[in-house]
Amino acid sequence: MSEDCIFCAIVAGDIPARTVHETDDVLAFLDANPLAAGHTLVIPKGHAQHVGDLDAEASAALFEAVGDLTPRVQDVVDADAANVGINDGEAAGQEVPHVHVHIIPRFEGDGGSPIHAVAGAAPDLSDGELDDIAERIAG
Ligand code: 5GP
Ligand code: ZN
Repeated sequence: MSEDCIFCAIVAGDIPARTVHETDDVLAFLDANPLAAGHTLVIPKGHAQHVGDLDAEASAALFEAVGDLTPRVQDVVDADAANVGINDGEAAGQEVPHVHVHIIPRFEGDGGSPIHAVAGAAPDLSDGELDDIAERIAG
């Protein structure tokens, strides 16, 4: 638990939330400012800012819950699809520094965009640069 973390306070029960799923490791609740009906946040109960900070157990529990909840959320609001994503770090738009997966239901013709719309101007990378990036990520 981290002091001054809103989501840790929700886990502790100090701030109310519309909880939709809870296990020993994971909590899911409705976003207080929904981008669509059913907009749900899924979080590990333990405090961590970045998805890469989670240990294997916490990560597995988080993504198992995301997999279970995404179709359930869609069914409840009769959505056609969903965007599932994480703002990982301030430059990516993360405002609450506690890992959370957004499940945002989507509807045909809702005027929204695909997840590709979140980045800035697309870079023009050569084959060599792409090869180099892939090799370095692969390690
Ligand atoms: P971020 O930009 O960090 O990825 O998204 C944080 C999300 O948390 C926002 O969509 C915001 O509406 C939601 N949020 C912030 N504070 C609270 C809160 O106290 N309760 C709930 N349920 N959601 C919150
Ligand atoms: Zn926290």
